Amino acid sequence: MPFSQSIKILFITPEITPLLKTGGLADVSAALPAALREHKVDVRVLLPAYPRVMGSLKNVRLLTTLTNIGVHGEVKLLEAELPGSDVPLLLVNYPLFYEREGNPYIDADGQDWADNAQRFALLSRVGALLGNSNSPLDWHPDIVQCNDWQSGLTPAYLHFSPAPSAAAIMTIHNLAFQGTFPASLTTPLGLPASSYSINGTEYYGQLSFLKAGLFYANHITTVSPTYAEEIQQEPLGFGMQGLLAHRYMDLTGIVNGIDVNEWNPATDKLLTHRYNSNDMSGKAAGKRALQNRLGLEENPDIPILGVVSRLTHQKGLDLLPAIASFLLEYPAQIVILGSGEASLETTFQLLAQNHPGQVATVIGFNEELSHQIEAGSDIFLMPSRFEPCGLNQMYSQCYGTPPVVHSTGGLADTVVDSTPENIANGTATGFVFRHVTTHGLNECIHRALDIYRDQPTWRKIQSNGMLRDFSWNRSAEEYLALYEMILKGY
Ligand code: ADP
Repeated sequence: MPFSQSIKILFITPEITPLLKTGGLADVSAALPAALREHKVDVRVLLPAYPRVMGSLKNVRLLTTLTNIGVHGEVKLLEAELPGSDVPLLLVNYPLFYEREGNPYIDADGQDWADNAQRFALLSRVGALLGNSNSPLDWHPDIVQCNDWQSGLTPAYLHFSPAPSAAAIMTIHNLAFQGTFPASLTTPLGLPASSYSINGTEYYGQLSFLKAGLFYANHITTVSPTYAEEIQQEPLGFGMQGLLAHRYMDLTGIVNGIDVNEWNPATDKLLTHRYNSNDMSGKAAGKRALQNRLGLEENPDIPILGVVSRLTHQKGLDLLPAIASFLLEYPAQIVILGSGEASLETTFQLLAQNHPGQVATVIGFNEELSHQIEAGSDIFLMPSRFEPCGLNQMYSQCYGTPPVVHSTGGLADTVVDSTPENIANGTATGFVFRHVTTHGLNECIHRALDIYRDQPTWRKIQSNGMLRDFSWNRSAEEYLALYEMILKGY
């Protein structure tokens, strides 16, 4: 049996698609384990038994009952399968902590649940127990992979336990959320007082679950190689840059995959017209349908600049209104689908009102329209100030809609700039700019618009992107290589 077939991974997460999702971590938590299992890695996913999760599961079995795990009474460990896949789930059943309706992190008033430290310390602690040689299960993981702060204490518990048998990976999906709590919780959460130090869990006078994970894990991963570099410095290190720079030898960036079944222009059921890189006629028809749907001038020769995004400062779209009139004169059309900060929503609504037939703004979350914009636009705009990984730039390449992106994080790692050299060697897939300023964005969009006029070159850039492999399979292979490296002790 090859080495990879025997690797056992406990993947700890606070959310998972399709059972409970507040962000991209839920998608990763379902897709990566499924892709790893295709590679014969024995991955099991540990998460809290929230009511919304339990309500969607069939055939839930009791695995074992845990006592003396830092909370009053018993904690049940249940087992089931993720619907629609063969991914085994291990569920931490402790009703006092997890049986509440709604969001896993905040109450109905938008406040953090007051006992979040205790709730996610329990999840972390169960994860650490299963990575110990005295685990009550027969199944012993080689590695526990912790995701974001909610399982950040697992590496610390493992470090201080008498018989750890698993190595720990701390995976950062969003460094901005750090799980900080009063230092006085150190002992009540079952950590030795000595762990609360600069070489431990202490973070600016508080106890940080994420810092604990970053400090005690054997290895750290994040969702793109460039983001792995960026978080070792200000400003993207969010205060963790010193520790991350210190641990740079143990830090790996692996780009997330995309769901290539859902995001494939040849099979996408949400499109009015489907197409592939050999026959792009469906893309032209989809463009006409999009112009019609959104009240834009139905003209196949005017390039559409598309945006699908959260409207927040991070995404850099505040740079667009100032240059919109230059772009529209080119000519071009602009389509924006998004929601977020009220001031940005209003700005884009006004832009559409002032340029009827040229700019369309749709405020809200609309899955179907997001697919139709990816397909019907000619150029996709993603000028994010920072982007740990990003998905839309990958979708747009698959849809023959070359993206204009800022050179940051996953954008830098997944888009190949259309320099003359890259066009000549057949690698160009989009347009990359270095400075997030109106000037930088304007210049880059104009560069794209100029090449758009040279249709044979444009077709090559489109098909380069459409033929790239952004599947989870590719990411899973990289994780597998990393697991093997960790288990060999580097
Ligand atoms: P982030 O997670 O920072 O929002 P990503 O690019 O990683 O950015 O992922 C965003 C996902 O959400 C993409 O799948 C994108 O298409 C989708 N999305 C964002 N805003 C909207 C919207 N208004 N309507 C539909 N889908 C949206």
